[in-house]
Amino acid sequence: MSKRQFKTESKQLLDLMINSIYTHREIFLREIISNASDAIDKLHYLSMTKPEEVTVSRGDLGIKVVADKAARTITVTDNGIGMDKEDLENNLGVIAHSGSLDFKRNLEEGGDVDIIGQFGVGFYSSFLVADEVTVFTKKYGSDQAYRWRSKGADGYTIDETEMDGWGTKVVMHLRPDDENERYSEFLEQYRLTELIKKYSDYVRWPIRMDLEKDDLVETGETDENGEPKKDWVTSIKEETVNSMVPIWQKPKSEASDEECFKFYKEKFRDWEDPVSVIRVNAEGAVSYKAMLFIPKTAPYNFYSREFEPGLQLYSSGVMIMEKCKDLLPDCFRFVRGVVDSPDLSLNISRELLQHDRQLATIRSNIEKKVKAELERMLADEREKYLEFYKSFGLQLKYGMVEEYGLKADMLKDIVLFHSMKEDKLITLREYRDAMPEGQERIYYASAESVARAKQLPQTEQVSAKGYDILLLSEDADEFALKTLRSYDEKEFCDVAGGDLGLETDEERKEAEEKAEAEKDVLSFVKDALGDSVSDVRLSSKLKSTAVCLSADGDVSLEMEKYFSTIPGDQSVKARRVLEINADHPAYAALKDAVANDQEKAKVLATIMYDQAALIAGMPVDDIVGYSEKVFSLLG
Ligand code: ADP
Repeated sequence: MSKRQFKTESKQLLDLMINSIYTHREIFLREIISNASDAIDKLHYLSMTKPEEVTVSRGDLGIKVVADKAARTITVTDNGIGMDKEDLENNLGVIAHSGSLDFKRNLEEGGDVDIIGQFGVGFYSSFLVADEVTVFTKKYGSDQAYRWRSKGADGYTIDETEMDGWGTKVVMHLRPDDENERYSEFLEQYRLTELIKKYSDYVRWPIRMDLEKDDLVETGETDENGEPKKDWVTSIKEETVNSMVPIWQKPKSEASDEECFKFYKEKFRDWEDPVSVIRVNAEGAVSYKAMLFIPKTAPYNFYSREFEPGLQLYSSGVMIMEKCKDLLPDCFRFVRGVVDSPDLSLNISRELLQHDRQLATIRSNIEKKVKAELERMLADEREKYLEFYKSFGLQLKYGMVEEYGLKADMLKDIVLFHSMKEDKLITLREYRDAMPEGQERIYYASAESVARAKQLPQTEQVSAKGYDILLLSEDADEFALKTLRSYDEKEFCDVAGGDLGLETDEERKEAEEKAEAEKDVLSFVKDALGDSVSDVRLSSKLKSTAVCLSADGDVSLEMEKYFSTIPGDQSVKARRVLEINADHPAYAALKDAVANDQEKAKVLATIMYDQAALIAGMPVDDIVGYSEKVFSLLG
């Protein structure tokens, strides 16, 4: 028997766990029971799919929890699949669960230890309460049992041992009580039953305990009235502590929203109630039951690759997949929940599942249900919807852009944008319905924040007409609108784009005449700026500002900014147009210089361009040159 070290990552995590002052130590039991339940699921699954190899009967499967006050141990025993030596090495010698890694990373980044429950630290959480953990285990069908033992961060040992049946027994020796924690409390019957009810009530396998019961029992004697005498007698009876029946199998009338929320919080390890629960009981071409939840807040890693979306998939109560991605469109990847269908074959592989017709039917039904629920919330419970939207609105917008805009139409009425007029989030329908007579386009202004978008000088002309402007601040916003192109026959129009379509024919003619008259000044500026701009024009968009930058064509300035942040892709460039306000005093100065002092005119032209870039939130190419020019004018 040789001592083995944990892999570095695991060791660091264990150190953190052992030394942290942590307020939710109680979750250790949930984690150990959930491992036991998974192990039974695995064996049960084999008994259904390979009955010739695995013969266990459902009724015999279960979990037992025993507390021994004298030995100061809590023991959780299961008759699930068990582990062989290799499994032990692979599973308990390293961090198996990605949640553990996330948790460690979070701690290293100064995160809160109290959110441990969101990570599911699994087996290691036993060290939150134990100073020594011993695992006895024998894999189903094997003759050899093993004992794994560890006192924490300094490593573990594995040696051979004897065991009657198959399965796994986890023995946790509790730490001594200290001023922060009374670990002995976990040895109390009331505390253990409470924890099982709280965290593991819907575990599908019975969790049994030997419970002490006080009963009034006849003593065999009679009292002075001849009645049989009774006395309190303490007996020990094995009882199932959890209620077991999956809540999604219960009819609506038997499971209140509150109960569903409780289930959600336990199952999906969220501390908050979800904003909504959707219950589906479908019968027809494919029968299934589903219980879906829309969470209130996004998990901390939701917008990263680490987040694993998916619904739990069961077939008649047997779990086939922990996170089945194919049940949800990507735009709704925030939805959590379970789907249970007796029609799905247990033997189906992950690969085949992807092409399964029944699964495709369930998926499209779920998409409709989720969308309908979001629409309902938006219409009936706006505040709640806004709360949801704060967390997941961005995902809906990404969803519009993904898959070449496949879902854009489906999502267009549940996304929100910031209205300049209303100064709040509105739907496209609300914008459209409020459009005054004569407004032909839906205008938007885009910048890195709503406040900056509001300040863009290009908004002036549109606002002066009394038209509302959608203020965009997320990368996905503009891409989402570009994917849609129009809403209810009204095209989207970037106020920083070339033509805003606001002028009457007469105004347009007038503007052309004016531009013709200023031709020399404009072409001087264009020459002075060279390749930086594709055109220089007089602007009709501006009221109080001297210049602005706009973009001709499909690529907007905001999109250029976005692509410039992606490493290696600097090729997407907007066709920049410098627009000048001919009514501004700066223009008069420029015009004067073009006529009398062309050196100065060149300086003014480049300063105007750089100013326009700054206003648009674009970097100025030559900062030093720019400030020298400004100083040359001051001096
Ligand atoms: P996970 O989140 O994967 O359960 P854990 O650290 O809790 O992470 O456990 C690691 C692995 O150890 C499990 O995935 C499982 O393969 C194995 N394991 C843990 N407990 C048991 C058990 N009671 N029976 C069989 N295997 C177990």
